[in-house]
Amino acid sequence: MPEGDTLFRTARTLERALGGQTVTRFETVLAKLARVDEDSPLAGRTVQRVESRGKWLLMHFSGDLILLTHMLMSGSWHIYRPGEKWQRHRSHMRVVIETAAMLAVAFDVPVAEFHTARSLERREGFNRLGPAPLAADFDAAKAIANLAARGDLELGMALLDQTVLAGLGNVFKSEVAFACGVSQFRRVSTLTPAQLGDVVRVAQQFLLANVTPASGHRRTTTGDNRMDENLWVYGREGEPCRRCATPVCRKKHIGDGRVSFWCPACQE
Ligand SMILES: [Zn+2]
Repeated sequence: MPEGDTLFRTARTLERALGGQTVTRFETVLAKLARVDEDSPLAGRTVQRVESRGKWLLMHFSGDLILLTHMLMSGSWHIYRPGEKWQRHRSHMRVVIETAAMLAVAFDVPVAEFHTARSLERREGFNRLGPAPLAADFDAAKAIANLAARGDLELGMALLDQTVLAGLGNVFKSEVAFACGVSQFRRVSTLTPAQLGDVVRVAQQFLLANVTPASGHRRTTTGDNRMDENLWVYGREGEPCRRCATPVCRKKHIGDGRVSFWCPACQE
């Protein structure tokens, strides 16, 4: 599943492509979206801005209309010039937003809804999002308090809980725990306030490092963009820990798609 940095970059790319432009054509195979378009057409509206919030993507149109999408495991947004060949088959298309210069195509997005500012505030799952480290108004103290309030959870579970902190997935979860020297299997209540602060600070630092104009397409937490050098532990099962050379461990959690990587010597 794409994590917060990927969504942030997608939003930025979409905003650069479509921001300030007038929609000339809207197309969708999703009946609920089509009905809204029939009642109050997208064509003629301006794309005001595109932003991410955790793993959600919000496209704001003039006239108080917001397209909310979530990629889950399968979805993606692509940008094309008119007439350019798509990289996915048309059968995967869910939404097309076209302007005079560009079109944005959402493929296989499992969640796509129109909202007004008010209905968005009430939207289950979105209205309880925790602070997003990539948001301009990120509230680190609130994120730390949210973590502390989930003392009964394993750290790894708490970091994936989007109501605690919005935007982390399996990769950043493992990377943050490693960088902080704490096991993601520890209950949050066993962490000191300093460790909780570290976890939130590092989570923000890692996400931010991957959305700077200079950051490449390969995600990095080590600061090295080269393949096989870019992450501390994620995807490195059996390979030597970069700090102590102990083989990195991996655990696949049954049933929920979670996977964890860690160094048994560096993290406790
Ligand atoms: Zn180690």
